[in-house]
Amino acid sequence: MTLTSPHRSQNRNRNPDGPFHIVDERDYLMEIAQDMPDVISLGLGDPDFATPAHIVAAATDALRDGRCTDYTDHAGLPELRRAIAAKLAQENGIIADPDTEITVTTGGQEGLYVLVQAVLDPGDEILVPDPRYSSYDAAITRAQGVMVTIPTREADDFALDPAEVEQRITPRTKALLLLTPSNPTAAVIPPATIHRLAEIAKAHDLLVIADEIYEHFTYDGAVHLSIGSLPGMRERTITVNGFSKTYAMTGWRLGYVVAPVAITRAIRAIKETVSIAAPTLSQWAGVAALAGSQECVTVMRTAYDERRRALMQALTDVGFTYGHPYGTFYIFANTSRTQLTAFDLAVRMLTEARVLIFPGTGFGADWGNYLRFSLLQPTPILKEAIARLTRVL
Ligand code: PMP
Repeated sequence: MTLTSPHRSQNRNRNPDGPFHIVDERDYLMEIAQDMPDVISLGLGDPDFATPAHIVAAATDALRDGRCTDYTDHAGLPELRRAIAAKLAQENGIIADPDTEITVTTGGQEGLYVLVQAVLDPGDEILVPDPRYSSYDAAITRAQGVMVTIPTREADDFALDPAEVEQRITPRTKALLLLTPSNPTAAVIPPATIHRLAEIAKAHDLLVIADEIYEHFTYDGAVHLSIGSLPGMRERTITVNGFSKTYAMTGWRLGYVVAPVAITRAIRAIKETVSIAAPTLSQWAGVAALAGSQECVTVMRTAYDERRRALMQALTDVGFTYGHPYGTFYIFANTSRTQLTAFDLAVRMLTEARVLIFPGTGFGADWGNYLRFSLLQPTPILKEAIARLTRVL
């Protein structure tokens, strides 16, 4: 079976002018996986857990009571914005006015997209650590912004070096984007670095976009600190978060953006044009998620940690190295020892081991020797995937 070069060039030709070809390799792998029986996916970042029962029950009640028929305010249900404000104050130390600084969005993804359109003017530069979540590329390109990448390296566990950030600041730099914990690297920016980055942002009058969607998944003593909680940062920080990862709610499409008043006004105007309001049913579910017990999050974190340890060991056993995964539910592994590109290796893994894994090129063109493994299968299935991979390798 020849599955590599011809298809790749075809896929590339589909989108000849964008940074989007990187996602085509992933689409291509998912397409062939669809027609194969018994594939174990360690690909998408879509939790295998069911949405916790108390959240589903609250949504069912809202449906039955007729509370989901209509649009909400385009900024989001007031009850949900108040619950988000309380959560931000309590968990993150972020002070935000639910009336003027919080916008509920249709997933963190819509939040990221609209906020990038709201803050970037054509030609504005935005600093983004590399490798990165590739939706940033698309949002920045659509706003005609200029993405300036900041290198991070496996040898440093993909730590972000503030000196590397500072070196790349120019008079056109508008914003610094931080993703911690990071998809795909699983790095967590330590509090001391967050403090240093805040000082840099203030000194150079930068906005900071903080994608905190994986905030609850940290391990081995890593600590998540929200940059928007630091002195002098409320007026320059835009925090994006959502319910998908924390509560296993990817399909509910619910997220939010916290931003200073003037930016929130711009975000709400664009958000209203795109989707009017987030789904009302999901917003009631979100109220229940924040109001209810957080034990479900602990259960998921504990499971991800167990899987993480199992996969780290397996990768080490087959001779793959990786940046230490301090957070998320991914491991970004260096596959150089196979002497195959990550895409070719992913094709082999899929066709010979029936395990779906995404190549690093989905996170930046320079990552052709990396695979991103996700940990979103129950432990016995993850172990079966590991056994299959080990046999092929
Ligand atoms: N940010 C990052 C870094 C992500 O990995 C994702 C989902 N893969 C999102 C934002 C968007 O998530 P959602 O729209 O489901 O909230």
